[in-house]
Amino acid sequence: MNARHRKSNLFRERALRPRSAAHAASTLVMLLGLWTFTSSAAAQRTALKPGWNIFSPQQDIELGKRAAADAARQLPLCNAPKVDAYLTQLGMRLAEKLPTGGMQYPFEFHCVNDKAINAFALPGGYVFINRGAIEVAENEAQLAGVMAHELSHVALRHGTNQASKAEFANGVLGIADGIFGGSTGGALLSKLGAFAAGGVLLRYSRTAESQADVMGTQALYDSGYDPRALAQFFEKLEAETKGKNPPEFFSDHPNPEHRVERVDEEIEKLGGVPPHAKRDSTEFEAIKREVLALPVAKKLAPGARAGAGALKVPAPPSGNFAAYQTNAYTLKYPDNWKKYPDTNGSGASFAPEGGVVDDGTGHAALAYGLIVSVASATGDPDDWDALNSATQKVIQELQNSNPNMKITRQPERVRLNGQPGLATYLSNDSPVGGQETDWVVSTLRPEGLVSFICVAPQSTYEKYDKTFDAVLDSVRFPK
Ligand SMILES: [Zn+2]
Repeated sequence: MNARHRKSNLFRERALRPRSAAHAASTLVMLLGLWTFTSSAAAQRTALKPGWNIFSPQQDIELGKRAAADAARQLPLCNAPKVDAYLTQLGMRLAEKLPTGGMQYPFEFHCVNDKAINAFALPGGYVFINRGAIEVAENEAQLAGVMAHELSHVALRHGTNQASKAEFANGVLGIADGIFGGSTGGALLSKLGAFAAGGVLLRYSRTAESQADVMGTQALYDSGYDPRALAQFFEKLEAETKGKNPPEFFSDHPNPEHRVERVDEEIEKLGGVPPHAKRDSTEFEAIKREVLALPVAKKLAPGARAGAGALKVPAPPSGNFAAYQTNAYTLKYPDNWKKYPDTNGSGASFAPEGGVVDDGTGHAALAYGLIVSVASATGDPDDWDALNSATQKVIQELQNSNPNMKITRQPERVRLNGQPGLATYLSNDSPVGGQETDWVVSTLRPEGLVSFICVAPQSTYEKYDKTFDAVLDSVRFPK
């Protein structure tokens, strides 16, 4: 697990931790009860409907559109008009066959210049297909299978269903608090950053995956393709990567149990494989050749990427500060940063616009900003040994999940609001490329070990140093 994941986990713990395990479990049970996955009598296709959702279909489009614009800025697109036109034609042919008003969405199809085998669809029908997925497909039916699966996530509104459940379980999006007024996905996006919101929108459950397989198989069948192609594609992916790194696709789309059996069962219900089902086309073969010949997108340094307009470098931290208060501490943070309070406990994250990015697996990762975490620990706040051992434990945990994280300067004694603290410098992989510096200042409090983790890419850390100092100087603990 690399550093980026750990950062993202840290961030997600702060942002998405359920109020309590019991609460989360009961919520889950309740929500599972709301799934509509009705299997009717034999020889009749499985009827599928979108699940519970606090968004309207119009909001799916607005959310998806904004997240897609952000994704298009951050991802290396193929910029191959012929390929995009082909994907659009193929995608629309499948979308027309979707039930539940599939055609109410605008649908857009983009080829992404990334060799990783992946594809994703944002709410409202904004579909991104990596060149890797086109290159690994053996025929048009297999590519159609992946696309039909993605389009089914759109039609079944899995993204906003997922976001609805996250909101219901954690209140993270602030939507239930009434912030989500009006008709746009503004609250969700401004809380998470547009593409980072994709992390919530793309984190599907196994049930959702199975539904997308079933509906995707129906769409293949209805548009004249060999309906076995979808399962064959996933089976091939799984077999080829056994014991190796699973393809990126499976991080966004967990592999459901009995995938092939479930698809075969659906094909039976549909009346079996039609005798002249389409498998390939000369067009597909031509497009695949064109994709294989595309130059590989260069991975650029963060600065260079910003120059190309691909990845936005955050604006410098403001010299004006806003106040943040919890029962455990108060602090001041630059007023052009956003706060992401922990819904449970005293943790929080603070980041500039563009400081939270997608870590490449659809998860939000903090690249610039501050994370306040509270780990359980006991000890007298004035006992240096207790502080030292609690700090070592937390750093060890960080390193366990981040093989590339290294201590660059051993803990040094500091004072935080007059109280003993330890300051440790670490280096780690940055989610925006290159290395990042993590400055961790920890102190023992009645709540546990409170750690202030200051994060910025190494290349630009200097520009944040003063701000981090000012934030830590502003920390006050209740007497
Ligand atoms: Zn999926």
